[in-house]
Amino acid sequence: MHDAVSHEPVARLSEPDGSSSQPGIIILGAGMSGLCMAIQLKRAGFENFVILEKSGGLGGTWWDNTYPGAQCDVPAHLYSYSFEPNPNWSRIYAPQEEIRRYMESCAAKFGILPHLRLNTEVTQAHFNARHGRWEIVVRGGETLHAAFFICSTGPLSMPRYPDIAGMNAFSGRVMHTSRWDHSYDMAGKSVAVIGTAASAVQLIPQIAQRARQVTVFQRTPNWIIPRRDRAFTERQKRWLRNPLIGRSYRVLLYWQREMQRLSFNHGTLPAKLAVRMAEQHLRRHVPDPALRQVLRPDYQFGCKRVLVSDDYYPALMQPNVALITTRISHITPDGVMTADGALHAADAIVCATGFNVTGLAAMIDFRGQSGQSLGAAWSEGAQAYHGMTVADFPNFFLLLGPNTGTGHTSTLLFVEPQVKYVIRCIKELMQRKKATLMVKQEAMASHNRSLQERLSRSVWGSGCSSWYMHSNGRVEVIYPGFSFQYRKALRRVDFSDYEFL
Ligand code: NAP
Repeated sequence: MHDAVSHEPVARLSEPDGSSSQPGIIILGAGMSGLCMAIQLKRAGFENFVILEKSGGLGGTWWDNTYPGAQCDVPAHLYSYSFEPNPNWSRIYAPQEEIRRYMESCAAKFGILPHLRLNTEVTQAHFNARHGRWEIVVRGGETLHAAFFICSTGPLSMPRYPDIAGMNAFSGRVMHTSRWDHSYDMAGKSVAVIGTAASAVQLIPQIAQRARQVTVFQRTPNWIIPRRDRAFTERQKRWLRNPLIGRSYRVLLYWQREMQRLSFNHGTLPAKLAVRMAEQHLRRHVPDPALRQVLRPDYQFGCKRVLVSDDYYPALMQPNVALITTRISHITPDGVMTADGALHAADAIVCATGFNVTGLAAMIDFRGQSGQSLGAAWSEGAQAYHGMTVADFPNFFLLLGPNTGTGHTSTLLFVEPQVKYVIRCIKELMQRKKATLMVKQEAMASHNRSLQERLSRSVWGSGCSSWYMHSNGRVEVIYPGFSFQYRKALRRVDFSDYEFL
């Protein structure tokens, strides 16, 4: 849970006639990537920007996800900005509230709070080709104009509720992990949890301590490896305050995580070792071979997000926790009915069912210079050039856009080079005294052809179903390589792939 904050924005945005001396920049979303963008713009001397955020506070994912047990599954010293290390992280894996507070302290330190406009939901974003400006309409009808539009909403902001018949008729409480209802006390209640992935495995051990009964509905098992989380001692924190030690620790974590990428190459020794580690983890905690069998995935390690948990399997062993693997048929007013005709009575249903990853294009009426919508452009799967720029959408940048997700390391390792790339583009445009910059269709298409070719040979194209994929099978979320490869690709902007107008 968090306190609502309110900040009055002071940023002015340039009017369509370009009366301001600096280009107006609108950033959509105050999560880790939007905040990073704002900080680096400020450090580069830009003042004329505003962050529009639909929630009542900054944090993005770390504002939305307040379910019990919410924690990052990337070590905190790597899941923090490289330019703002925090030697005071309490644990190896930071809890949600600590990450959100870190973000608030960064926003305050770098002077971002006055640029933040909270409780502001964008409903339309159209590029006005005549004026060379973005026209952004917010709920309530106000229209903002900006030269640049940077979308940093990330893939995990729109909750996805399961499409199961009867959900509306359920007489108890229904909640999604990312919209947690803290007013509901689980003590003594019978709780049904739908979903067994990253959010669920953090949540289930927590609610199992309070609820009378927890019934877990698993559709597909996941590979789970040990977490080995622990708190830092005061002595360790003192060491980490030494910049050299802090930096070295981060470098160590960085390479540890990059090495984990090797385990996604099926058939290789790192992949075999990773599978063996996950199997041992399962054996150690689940003595019943029949239960182990339903918990062991039959798809390749890494195809779906690998989970990191030490307490999920032990929670399943508790007498008040039941794992159901029979398909859900429908929801009745009293609980969850499975295909075998059994009714699993529940007072509450928790949907740990993930996010609508390309929901952005559906949520906002996005239109480029030709008037075509982003939804139509992405009807066969989201795509962009380096995951950041889209043909027909001038002066528009995505942070953590298509194919820049990672299953093995910190997303911030992708965000930081993206932010630098955006600033280089803006500066180049200003230097050339041009109004708009837009990636060429052919450059975007050829970039995506080679990306998809690489992905088709990768673990993510190996046949499991995951949120990394469009319904047509195209992998639209994941970047297939190491983070250093992506970083290298962004080091230089190839302006010959762009049109300047
Ligand atoms: P998710 O990975 O999309 O998992 C959704 C779960 O719900 C899956 O188990 C899925 O089963 C199940 N499901 C969906 N619809 C269903 C239905 N109709 N009937 C039955 N089961 C259904 O969502 P998530 O766990 O919220 O995680 C999403 C992403 O958020 C993660 O991959 C991760 O990147 C991020 N995350 C990160 C952290 C962190 O610590 N950093 C924590 C939580 C989440 P199937 O597998 O069969 O589809």
